[in-house]
Amino acid sequence: MNSLPHDYLEQMKELLRDEYPVFIKTYEQRPTRGLRINTLKISPEEFTKCVPFQLNPIPWCNEAFYYQHEVDRPGKHVYHAAGLYYIQDASAMAPAEALEPQPGERILDLCAAPGGKTTQIAAKMKGQGILVANEIDPIRIKALVENLERCGVTHAVVLNENPVHLTKRFRGFFDRILIDAPCSGEGMFRKDHDVCDRWSLRAVEKCADLQLEILAAAAPMLRPGGRLVYSTCTFNPTENESTIQLFLEQHPDFALIPVPQAKHYQPGRTDWVPNSESDLNQASRLWPHYLQGEGHFVACLEKRADSPQGKQRLGKLPPVSVDAVKQLRKFTKETYREDEWSEGNLTLFGEHLYQVPVELPSLKGIRVERPGRYLGQVKKGRFVPSHALACSSRVDQVIQSEQLAQNDPQLLQYLQGEAIPTQLENGWTLVAVEQFPLGWAKASGGLLKNHYPKWMRWKSYA
Ligand code: SAM
Repeated sequence: MNSLPHDYLEQMKELLRDEYPVFIKTYEQRPTRGLRINTLKISPEEFTKCVPFQLNPIPWCNEAFYYQHEVDRPGKHVYHAAGLYYIQDASAMAPAEALEPQPGERILDLCAAPGGKTTQIAAKMKGQGILVANEIDPIRIKALVENLERCGVTHAVVLNENPVHLTKRFRGFFDRILIDAPCSGEGMFRKDHDVCDRWSLRAVEKCADLQLEILAAAAPMLRPGGRLVYSTCTFNPTENESTIQLFLEQHPDFALIPVPQAKHYQPGRTDWVPNSESDLNQASRLWPHYLQGEGHFVACLEKRADSPQGKQRLGKLPPVSVDAVKQLRKFTKETYREDEWSEGNLTLFGEHLYQVPVELPSLKGIRVERPGRYLGQVKKGRFVPSHALACSSRVDQVIQSEQLAQNDPQLLQYLQGEAIPTQLENGWTLVAVEQFPLGWAKASGGLLKNHYPKWMRWKSYA
């Protein structure tokens, strides 16, 4: 690679010194590729039994593997459409591992799109608790929602806000917060040349200012004793160790704690920050010349347990109409083996019905992309189930499903939006690859009419 920015190369040469030749050699190698199994759908043991790809474990993430991009294309496999895994750079898996999310907690992913780390956190939470995924960019948020749906996440609230607008509302609310900050992306240069073209010393400074602003907005939202993980995919100390140092100077109620998987990584570089007094070597650096991955920085911070506890006022979401509940119950009775909806957890935005996590602060005035699990649309006299509901249901929950084998040509027809013949009774049917749901179809007169979302339909199988 001969077109890396001159200032970038000079900077790395000065920082890395003896290590520089080994580091720069990594630009002659192809990026490694990783995938992370979505344990909301399948265990790593089951997956490795049925998977058609050659996999090698990623040491710092039990559910993740390297695959061979030259041989296999897991992004184009039907198991991907069924949400069995997420394609993710191995080093990008480190921040959510460091966060150590637990089922039942309240967790915020503040810079979430396209959702690599959000889906990783969601799987670790096992669908229990509240996961707030925020993304400022109204375009990028679409991919976040699509990935959460594909992975069958049921307990996420998706917001489209500037972090500073969330601070007051969620004061002291979260047990854990992840800030996977916007950055100059030096660890993306091998994969994405546009990131490289946008890089400049000025851009690095601007990113560092923004990162500090996001950290400051996040700090009050963490409960005393809670954990905040800060990460970037850049090597620049201005956006990493220096940002953390400045944050700690301005927030004495926070302290660095060791990154749990630190033994796999290199330590943060205290010596790269002028006048540093803090223990920045507790942060971790993932370097492409030490491990297989594009590169990341991860810092784990804890808020002191004796910090003042913010006040939390829980809010109410718009109520559901009697008709909406009636339509949902009718659909459920015809389609599901059991009725699992409690009215207290339902909310209606226009004609869109959602199942929401209880115990949420008021979302009034906040841009909400998804207040919870999207169930479907309440139309005049009928309920149309959402794709999200299909992806987050199991075949054993529904009365009727069409389960197709991995190599059944009808699977491709379904994913391309075509109707497929069936022996099933008329009614809503979950179409699945083996036992893994792909979407809805409506059986009628021996045909399964296709309800796979139009914008997701496959053009060709290869
Ligand atoms: N965590 C994501 C994942 O694992 O898929 C990647 C996040 S990416 C590194 C950083 C995100 O921060 C981008 O989606 C970007 O739109 C968002 N962002 C940009 N400016 C922001 C700001 N001022 N506040 C919060 N987020 C911002």
